[in-house]
Amino acid sequence: MFVTRFAPSPTGRLHKGHAFSALTVWRAARAAGGRFLLRIEDIDPTRCRPEFEAGILEDLRWLGLDWDRPVRRQSEHLAEYAAVVGELQRRGLLYRCFRTRKEILDAIGDAPHGPADAVRPGPHPRAEEDRLLAEGRPYAWRLSLDRARADLGERSWDALAFVEEGAGPGGETGRIRARPETAGDVVLARKDAGTAYHLAVTHDDALQGVSHVIRGEDLFEATHIQVLIQALMGWPTPVYRHHRLLTGPDGRRFAKRDNSVTLAQLRADGVAPEALRAEVGF
Ligand code: GLU
Repeated sequence: MFVTRFAPSPTGRLHKGHAFSALTVWRAARAAGGRFLLRIEDIDPTRCRPEFEAGILEDLRWLGLDWDRPVRRQSEHLAEYAAVVGELQRRGLLYRCFRTRKEILDAIGDAPHGPADAVRPGPHPRAEEDRLLAEGRPYAWRLSLDRARADLGERSWDALAFVEEGAGPGGETGRIRARPETAGDVVLARKDAGTAYHLAVTHDDALQGVSHVIRGEDLFEATHIQVLIQALMGWPTPVYRHHRLLTGPDGRRFAKRDNSVTLAQLRADGVAPEALRAEVGF
Protein backbone atom coordinates (compact mmCIF):
# COMPACT_ATOMS: atom_id res chain seq x y z
CA MET A 1 0.00 0.00 0.00
CA PHE A 2 1.33 3.39 -1.01
CA VAL A 3 1.07 5.70 2.00
CA THR A 4 2.50 9.18 2.09
CA ARG A 5 2.08 12.30 4.15
CA PHE A 6 2.29 16.06 4.22
CA ALA A 7 3.68 17.11 7.59
CA PRO A 8 3.65 20.86 8.13
CA SER A 9 4.71 22.56 11.36
CA PRO A 10 2.15 25.17 12.44
CA THR A 11 4.68 27.92 13.01
CA GLY A 12 3.13 30.24 10.44
CA ARG A 13 0.80 30.28 7.48
CA LEU A 14 1.51 28.33 4.29
CA HIS A 15 3.19 30.01 1.32
CA LYS A 16 3.58 28.97 -2.32
CA GLY A 17 6.46 26.64 -1.50
CA HIS A 18 4.19 24.68 0.83
CA ALA A 19 1.44 24.63 -1.80
CA PHE A 20 3.88 23.09 -4.28
CA SER A 21 5.01 20.52 -1.73
CA ALA A 22 1.49 19.58 -0.59
CA LEU A 23 0.32 19.22 -4.19
CA THR A 24 3.35 17.08 -5.05
CA VAL A 25 2.65 14.71 -2.17
CA TRP A 26 -1.10 14.62 -2.80
CA ARG A 27 -0.73 13.95 -6.52
CA ALA A 28 1.72 11.10 -5.86
CA ALA A 29 -0.75 9.48 -3.46
CA ARG A 30 -3.66 9.84 -5.86
CA ALA A 31 -1.60 8.62 -8.84
CA ALA A 32 -0.65 5.50 -6.89
CA GLY A 33 -4.18 4.94 -5.57
CA GLY A 34 -2.67 5.28 -2.12
CA ARG A 35 -3.31 7.17 1.08
CA PHE A 36 -2.54 10.84 1.70
CA LEU A 37 -2.07 11.62 5.38
CA LEU A 38 -1.87 14.98 7.03
CA ARG A 39 0.30 15.25 10.11
CA ILE A 40 0.64 18.37 12.19
CA GLU A 41 4.17 18.52 13.58
CA ASP A 42 3.56 20.76 16.56
CA ILE A 43 6.04 19.61 19.18
CA ASP A 44 7.75 23.00 19.43
CA PRO A 45 5.81 24.64 22.27
CA THR A 46 7.26 28.09 21.66
CA ARG A 47 6.65 28.42 17.91
CA CYS A 48 3.55 26.36 17.15
CA ARG A 49 0.10 27.87 17.51
CA PRO A 50 -3.40 26.40 17.13
CA GLU A 51 -4.50 29.29 14.90
CA PHE A 52 -1.72 28.44 12.44
CA GLU A 53 -2.94 24.84 12.36
CA ALA A 54 -6.49 25.97 11.64
CA GLY A 55 -5.11 28.24 8.91
CA ILE A 56 -3.14 25.39 7.34
CA LEU A 57 -6.23 23.17 7.11
CA GLU A 58 -8.16 26.04 5.57
CA ASP A 59 -5.38 26.73 3.04
CA LEU A 60 -5.15 23.07 2.01
CA ARG A 61 -8.93 22.82 1.56
CA TRP A 62 -8.86 25.98 -0.51
CA LEU A 63 -6.18 24.38 -2.70
CA GLY A 64 -8.63 21.55 -3.31
CA LEU A 65 -6.83 18.87 -1.31
CA ASP A 66 -8.49 16.15 0.73
CA TRP A 67 -6.78 13.80 3.14
CA ASP A 68 -7.40 10.61 5.04
CA ARG A 69 -8.70 10.99 8.59
CA PRO A 70 -7.80 11.34 11.34
CA VAL A 71 -5.23 14.10 11.17
CA ARG A 72 -2.38 13.21 13.51
CA ARG A 73 -1.35 16.00 15.84
CA GLN A 74 2.05 15.24 17.38
CA SER A 75 1.47 17.26 20.54
CA GLU A 76 -1.24 14.74 21.49
CA HIS A 77 1.23 11.85 21.39
CA LEU A 78 4.11 13.01 23.58
CA ALA A 79 3.84 9.90 25.79
CA GLU A 80 4.55 7.70 22.76
CA TYR A 81 7.70 9.64 21.94
CA ALA A 82 8.73 9.56 25.60
CA ALA A 83 8.47 5.77 25.51
CA VAL A 84 10.93 5.63 22.62
CA VAL A 85 13.28 8.02 24.40
CA GLY A 86 13.00 5.75 27.44
CA GLU A 87 13.94 2.69 25.45
CA LEU A 88 16.95 4.38 23.88
CA GLN A 89 18.00 5.57 27.34
CA ARG A 90 17.77 2.08 28.77
CA ARG A 91 19.94 0.83 25.94
CA GLY A 92 22.51 3.46 26.89
CA LEU A 93 22.36 5.25 23.54
CA LEU A 94 21.54 8.73 24.80
CA TYR A 95 23.39 11.19 26.99
CA ARG A 96 22.31 14.30 28.82
CA CYS A 97 23.41 17.60 27.33
CA PHE A 98 23.06 20.74 29.45
CA ARG A 99 24.83 23.00 26.96
CA THR A 100 23.06 26.02 25.58
CA ARG A 101 22.75 26.67 21.87
CA LYS A 102 25.33 29.44 22.27
CA GLU A 103 27.84 27.14 23.95
CA ILE A 104 27.47 24.62 21.13
CA LEU A 105 27.86 27.31 18.46
CA ASP A 106 30.93 28.71 20.20
CA ALA A 107 32.43 25.23 20.30
CA ILE A 108 31.79 24.82 16.56
CA GLY A 109 33.86 27.95 15.99
CA ASP A 110 36.74 26.43 17.94
CA ALA A 111 36.51 22.93 16.52
CA PRO A 112 39.75 21.72 14.95
CA HIS A 113 38.06 19.33 12.53
CA GLY A 114 35.07 21.39 11.46
CA PRO A 115 31.43 21.47 12.46
CA ALA A 116 30.76 17.75 12.28
CA ASP A 117 32.95 17.14 15.31
CA ALA A 118 31.51 20.05 17.18
CA VAL A 119 27.96 18.81 17.15
CA ARG A 120 29.18 15.75 18.99
CA PRO A 121 29.81 17.44 22.31
CA GLY A 122 29.83 14.13 24.20
CA PRO A 123 28.60 13.46 27.71
CA HIS A 124 29.57 15.84 30.48
CA PRO A 125 32.13 14.52 32.96
CA ARG A 126 30.30 12.66 35.73
CA ALA A 127 30.96 15.18 38.51
CA GLU A 128 29.84 18.07 36.32
CA GLU A 129 26.67 16.23 35.30
CA ASP A 130 25.85 15.50 38.95
CA ARG A 131 26.36 19.13 39.83
CA LEU A 132 24.20 20.42 36.97
CA LEU A 133 21.47 17.92 37.85
CA ALA A 134 21.59 18.99 41.49
CA GLU A 135 21.26 22.61 40.38
CA GLY A 136 18.12 21.64 38.48
CA ARG A 137 19.48 22.86 35.15
CA PRO A 138 17.46 21.79 32.10
CA TYR A 139 19.01 19.30 29.68
CA ALA A 140 18.40 17.67 26.33
CA TRP A 141 19.08 14.04 25.43
CA ARG A 142 21.48 13.49 22.53
CA LEU A 143 21.97 10.31 20.55
CA SER A 144 25.55 9.11 20.86
CA LEU A 145 26.73 8.06 17.41
CA ASP A 146 29.54 6.03 18.97
CA ARG A 147 27.13 4.05 21.12
CA ALA A 148 24.62 3.69 18.29
CA ARG A 149 27.34 2.25 16.11
CA ALA A 150 28.39 -0.20 18.81
CA ASP A 151 24.74 -1.15 19.39
CA LEU A 152 24.11 -1.87 15.72
CA GLY A 153 27.44 -3.51 14.99
CA GLU A 154 29.79 -2.64 12.13
CA ARG A 155 28.00 -4.71 9.52
CA SER A 156 24.63 -3.10 10.10
CA TRP A 157 26.20 0.33 10.39
CA ASP A 158 27.89 -0.09 7.02
CA ALA A 159 24.61 -1.31 5.52
CA LEU A 160 22.62 1.80 6.52
CA ALA A 161 21.06 3.02 3.29
CA PHE A 162 17.92 4.39 1.70
CA VAL A 163 16.40 4.56 -1.74
CA GLU A 164 16.01 8.06 -3.16
CA GLU A 165 13.49 8.24 -5.98
CA GLY A 166 13.75 12.00 -6.27
CA ALA A 167 17.01 13.81 -5.75
CA GLY A 168 18.96 15.53 -3.03
CA PRO A 169 20.29 19.07 -3.46
CA GLY A 170 23.46 17.68 -5.05
CA GLY A 171 21.52 15.44 -7.44
CA GLU A 172 21.92 12.38 -5.19
CA THR A 173 19.57 9.66 -6.33
CA GLY A 174 19.12 5.89 -6.30
CA ARG A 175 20.44 3.76 -3.47
CA ILE A 176 22.27 6.00 -1.05
CA ARG A 177 24.51 4.99 1.79
CA ALA A 178 23.33 6.76 4.96
CA ARG A 179 25.98 8.79 6.72
CA PRO A 180 24.62 9.69 10.15
CA GLU A 181 28.00 11.08 11.15
CA THR A 182 27.34 14.18 9.05
CA ALA A 183 24.56 15.12 11.46
CA GLY A 184 26.48 14.57 14.67
CA ASP A 185 24.95 13.58 18.02
CA VAL A 186 21.49 14.96 17.33
CA VAL A 187 19.08 15.93 20.07
CA LEU A 188 16.29 13.36 20.37
CA ALA A 189 14.61 14.97 23.36
CA ARG A 190 14.61 18.74 23.57
CA LYS A 191 14.88 20.53 26.87
CA ASP A 192 11.41 22.01 26.46
CA ALA A 193 9.50 19.30 24.62
CA GLY A 194 10.74 15.88 25.78
CA THR A 195 11.02 14.84 22.15
CA ALA A 196 12.53 16.27 18.98
CA TYR A 197 11.87 16.39 15.26
CA HIS A 198 13.96 13.37 14.16
CA LEU A 199 12.44 11.12 16.79
CA ALA A 200 8.82 12.17 16.35
CA VAL A 201 8.98 12.05 12.55
CA THR A 202 10.55 8.58 12.35
CA HIS A 203 8.20 7.24 15.01
CA ASP A 204 5.15 8.52 13.17
CA ASP A 205 6.30 7.43 9.73
CA ALA A 206 6.67 3.91 11.13
CA LEU A 207 3.44 3.95 13.13
CA GLN A 208 1.42 5.29 10.23
CA GLY A 209 2.91 2.82 7.75
CA VAL A 210 4.32 5.56 5.53
CA SER A 211 5.80 3.81 2.50
CA HIS A 212 6.97 6.98 0.71
CA VAL A 213 8.31 10.11 2.35
CA ILE A 214 7.88 12.92 -0.15
CA ARG A 215 9.25 16.28 0.98
CA GLY A 216 11.50 19.17 0.04
CA GLU A 217 15.18 18.66 -0.65
CA ASP A 218 15.98 20.88 2.36
CA LEU A 219 15.23 17.76 4.44
CA PHE A 220 17.46 15.45 2.40
CA GLU A 221 20.30 15.60 4.94
CA ALA A 222 17.89 14.76 7.77
CA THR A 223 17.31 11.39 6.10
CA HIS A 224 20.77 10.16 7.09
CA ILE A 225 19.99 10.37 10.78
CA GLN A 226 16.40 9.21 10.36
CA VAL A 227 17.60 6.00 8.69
CA LEU A 228 19.83 5.36 11.71
CA ILE A 229 16.93 5.82 14.13
CA GLN A 230 14.84 3.41 12.05
CA ALA A 231 17.59 0.82 12.22
CA LEU A 232 18.03 1.24 15.98
CA MET A 233 14.29 0.87 16.58
CA GLY A 234 13.73 -1.92 14.06
CA TRP A 235 11.40 0.29 12.00
CA PRO A 236 11.24 -0.04 8.22
CA THR A 237 12.92 2.61 6.10
CA PRO A 238 10.43 4.16 3.67
CA VAL A 239 11.34 5.11 0.12
CA TYR A 240 12.30 8.79 -0.10
CA ARG A 241 11.42 11.29 -2.80
CA HIS A 242 12.92 14.69 -2.18
CA HIS A 243 11.62 17.36 -4.50
CA ARG A 244 13.18 20.62 -5.60
CA LEU A 245 12.21 23.74 -3.73
CA LEU A 246 10.02 26.21 -5.50
CA THR A 247 11.69 29.56 -6.02
CA GLY A 248 10.21 33.00 -6.49
CA PRO A 249 10.84 35.38 -9.39
CA ASP A 250 14.05 36.49 -7.65
CA GLY A 251 15.32 32.91 -7.74
CA ARG A 252 15.15 32.56 -3.97
CA ARG A 253 13.17 29.85 -2.29
CA PHE A 254 10.06 30.68 -0.32
CA ALA A 255 10.51 30.65 3.42
CA LYS A 256 8.41 31.65 6.39
CA ARG A 257 11.16 33.79 7.78
CA ASP A 258 11.28 35.99 4.67
CA ASN A 259 7.60 36.77 5.12
CA SER A 260 6.86 35.17 1.77
CA VAL A 261 3.37 36.03 0.66
CA THR A 262 0.98 33.55 2.25
CA LEU A 263 -1.79 31.59 0.59
CA ALA A 264 -4.21 33.41 2.89
CA GLN A 265 -3.01 36.72 1.49
CA LEU A 266 -3.31 35.51 -2.10
CA ARG A 267 -6.83 34.33 -1.39
CA ALA A 268 -7.70 37.69 0.17
CA ASP A 269 -6.32 39.35 -2.96
CA GLY A 270 -8.80 37.36 -5.02
CA VAL A 271 -6.43 34.80 -6.52
CA ALA A 272 -8.32 31.65 -7.51
CA PRO A 273 -6.96 28.30 -6.31
CA GLU A 274 -6.89 27.03 -9.92
CA ALA A 275 -4.63 29.93 -10.86
CA LEU A 276 -2.27 29.24 -8.03
CA ARG A 277 -2.19 25.52 -8.81
CA ALA A 278 -1.37 26.29 -12.42
CA GLU A 279 1.33 28.73 -11.39
CA VAL A 280 3.14 26.09 -9.34
CA GLY A 281 2.75 23.48 -12.04
CA PHE A 282 -0.50 21.68 -11.17
N1 GLU B 1 7.51 19.19 9.80
C1 GLU B 1 8.60 19.32 8.88
C2 GLU B 1 8.60 20.71 8.26
O1 GLU B 1 7.59 21.38 8.30
C3 GLU B 1 8.55 18.30 7.76
C4 GLU B 1 8.92 16.96 8.22
C5 GLU B 1 9.10 15.92 7.12
O2 GLU B 1 8.47 16.01 6.06
O3 GLU B 1 9.84 14.99 7.37
O4 GLU B 1 9.62 21.12 7.76
